[in-house]
Amino acid sequence: MTSPQAPTPDELAALRRRYRSERERRVRPDGPRQYRAAEAEFGFYAADPYADEQDEREPLRDTVDVAVVGGGFGGILAGARLRQQGVERVRLVDKGGDFGGTWYWNRYPGIHCDIESHVYLPMLDETGYVPRWKYAPGEEIRRHAVRIAQRYDLYADALFSTTVTALNWEEGSRTWIVATDRGDTFRARYVVTATGTLSEPKLPGIPGIETFAGHTFHTSRWDYAYTGGSPEGGLTGLAGKRVGVVGTGATGVQVIPMLAEDAGHVHVFQRTPSTVDVRANRRTTAADVGADRAGWAAARRENFLRIVSGETCGDDLVADGWTSSAGLLEKLLPSFRRPDDGRDFETAYETADAAKMNEVRTRVERTVTDPATSEALKPWYRYACKRPTFSDLYYPAFNRSNVTLVDTADTHGIERVTEDGVVVGGTAYALDCLIFATGFSVGVSGVHSGSLPVHGRGGVQLLHAWGQRGIRTLHGFTCNGFPNLVQMGSLQNASSVNYTHILDEQAVHAAALVAAAEDRGALLEPSREAEDAWLATIMRGAPDHEWFHAECTPGYYNREGRGRPRGPHAYPHGAAAFHELLRRWREESMDEVLAR
Ligand code: NDP
Repeated sequence: MTSPQAPTPDELAALRRRYRSERERRVRPDGPRQYRAAEAEFGFYAADPYADEQDEREPLRDTVDVAVVGGGFGGILAGARLRQQGVERVRLVDKGGDFGGTWYWNRYPGIHCDIESHVYLPMLDETGYVPRWKYAPGEEIRRHAVRIAQRYDLYADALFSTTVTALNWEEGSRTWIVATDRGDTFRARYVVTATGTLSEPKLPGIPGIETFAGHTFHTSRWDYAYTGGSPEGGLTGLAGKRVGVVGTGATGVQVIPMLAEDAGHVHVFQRTPSTVDVRANRRTTAADVGADRAGWAAARRENFLRIVSGETCGDDLVADGWTSSAGLLEKLLPSFRRPDDGRDFETAYETADAAKMNEVRTRVERTVTDPATSEALKPWYRYACKRPTFSDLYYPAFNRSNVTLVDTADTHGIERVTEDGVVVGGTAYALDCLIFATGFSVGVSGVHSGSLPVHGRGGVQLLHAWGQRGIRTLHGFTCNGFPNLVQMGSLQNASSVNYTHILDEQAVHAAALVAAAEDRGALLEPSREAEDAWLATIMRGAPDHEWFHAECTPGYYNREGRGRPRGPHAYPHGAAAFHELLRRWREESMDEVLAR
């Protein structure tokens, strides 16, 4: 039995060795190249199963006030905040057939948000909506995205099933020409980009994957026509079927118990086990969260942000697995630095970390009855090396006679896919259906990836300019040479685990920028000096958490074991401080970004 108590120095040393050997067992020489995109012959894995039949439409050639690239929460919030500033023609463009972004695409059985719904769902104060569960099902979240879009009349000008393919600044008309894959070339006086990071499904480059003769799909494009049922279960189409699932990350952990309910047999092909903590989901009422008080939601999410950022700020309103592990999450923050005050940081940190991870490993032991399965499900790495997950259904699912865990760590994943199924360690597993819960490519979509070229003043391409001079922005939003372009996302600003909160603060800022430029008849464009000053700010006290990612098991957090890209990518004092800085800047220094 793993000890739930704080470990002794010998136990700590043994843990360190174990973590190192587990990491070495998993690092692959091909790193991020092990994956393949869901395109060309694999394009069907990324096709939209939810959109209505596409009507042909005439390409657009009109002019709008603001084009927003992306119809997920980032784009919707930008649209709503622009409306609040009185902007009339706002056109959101999205590849999906409706609003919702990740919640449009991900509709797999069991889908829930693992951040408390009362802090995750944005604009609750404005819409008067109060979530019904502590952790909302995906469909409730998707409907809330639609609710905001309806409330702020964002459907009127929206373009769905449309991908923006280029943005070109036209000096004479002082507009952006927005090109799309539907032949549009419309003009926008401002462009806001909100393209997200984890949007392109990825597949493992397993030899023979194209030969599988059974049914196959990616979890972000769930095929209910085949499985039957809904995100709530009832997958009657899987009765008697042999189903294989590849992937045990945050998605796999939610999907697997649902498959276990209805499939004939489920084979779970695991490479690295997740950290699966207590979920304790429950119904909530307006009274539980004090929803009768004006501004209750804004206050609650600020409380959550500050606690997970390591601040002490009175009551812990959310009180869940994220806030109780705040001390361990802190090391992921840009603001995190090893203290140089002589404290024995290593021991204190490792002791707290080991206590938490022992707690999770003990949870596995206490739940899963088969000793070999229980051993294989234990995570041997530091907390938050991989996205922490939460479920009360996942571990018990492995006690069912129709669920088999197949550990693929020694072979770096599945060895081969054949016409009939998959092969691991020389053993063939015959399958009717193979489901990929293998996640998303990072940084392959949007303006930072090259898939959406942006040409600013003089035809200069954004990525080319950054390649020559380094990434340069003011607060991550605006760039010299690229007037009236406002970027949302996670570059040179500050992030946190409740990403919709981050996006909402960014949306408020983006809308304020547009309103100020309109007010003064100016262009939004920072000077080189303003960019220099911001670079200097984020370089001062740049984070020191490379050591943490370098020792972690591989995954998308650390570029499959290769560490994080270097450079000042974030404001070093955390998201709460960044939001305050932006508020002050809007009051005092807005002129810095208004050019004639
Ligand atoms: P992940 O990238 O987190 O997980 C992919 C899984 O596929 C891993 O278990 C990985 O193993 C496995 N895998 C990849 N290649 C192979 C292979 N060749 N053989 C066997 N296994 C393989 O994707 P998810 O979709 O689970 O999650 C992505 C992100 O989406 C999360 O990190 C989170 O940010 C978000 N999310 C959030 C949720 C929420 O509630 N808010 C719910 C779901 C997702 P290995 O670990 O060894 O690489």
